[in-house]
Amino acid sequence: VPELPEVETVVRSLRGSLIGARIRSVHCTVPSLVGGEPERFCAALSGRLFEDVKRHGKYAFLVFSGGDAVAVHLGMTGQMLIAQPGRPTDKHTHLEIILDRSGQKLVYRDVRKFGRFAIVTGGLDSFVREKKLGPDALSVTPLELSGALRRTRRSIKAALLDQSVLAGLGNIYTDEVLYRIGAAPWRRADTLADHQVHALCENMRELLYAAIADSGTTISDYVDPEGRQGGFQFALQVYGRKGEACGRCGASVQRAVIAGRGTWYCPACQS
Ligand SMILES: [Zn+2]
Repeated sequence: VPELPEVETVVRSLRGSLIGARIRSVHCTVPSLVGGEPERFCAALSGRLFEDVKRHGKYAFLVFSGGDAVAVHLGMTGQMLIAQPGRPTDKHTHLEIILDRSGQKLVYRDVRKFGRFAIVTGGLDSFVREKKLGPDALSVTPLELSGALRRTRRSIKAALLDQSVLAGLGNIYTDEVLYRIGAAPWRRADTLADHQVHALCENMRELLYAAIADSGTTISDYVDPEGRQGGFQFALQVYGRKGEACGRCGASVQRAVIAGRGTWYCPACQS
């Protein structure tokens, strides 16, 4: 499931391919992907000029000149690929945006079809407010985060997964950052001391930037727009490593279900 580093990797790559290109036509075969009205969606995009590609949390925004944009959420298994003309369309390709640049196209593949595209006309800030997204995990301040964590009695894991508290983290990076700061995932969010929230912000930024530098984490479907897998799965310290030795203390990494999600942690280093 793409989290912030994977979406940021996609955004950075798309910037190079899309900025300055104009849309020749759009084809969509799965109406639910674009809010139920594919004809309207495709017509609204036709002829638009790409000006930028941005991101907030796990959303990517294809921004057109004039300010309108398309918000993209990759869901569980969404992939955005830049393809050359003539690339055959497979059964998991549900959307194609044909560019005026020698027929190159932006292709959307999604095995499970949980991804979503939405036209944004009122500015990106209003979209972020409408979706009730919290501050982005790369720009949140310790003060903002401690304020949000104090307002909940849930576990720290549940709070960090909640996109209205903090936008961008999913299951993998939440487990990894809690391991880095030595906080148990079941610990109540409002019991973290200020210095721990500081450490959380700092470690989260380091972790996310390291993952972006590695082009993200590929556990199952994630690839960047060039079709390449990420490399950060080899740097994960607890996620998916049940039974392996903790790199810090040697204890065996454990798995439990917390906040409804498989959760990996070191029983000795995290409390
Ligand atoms: Zn340990």
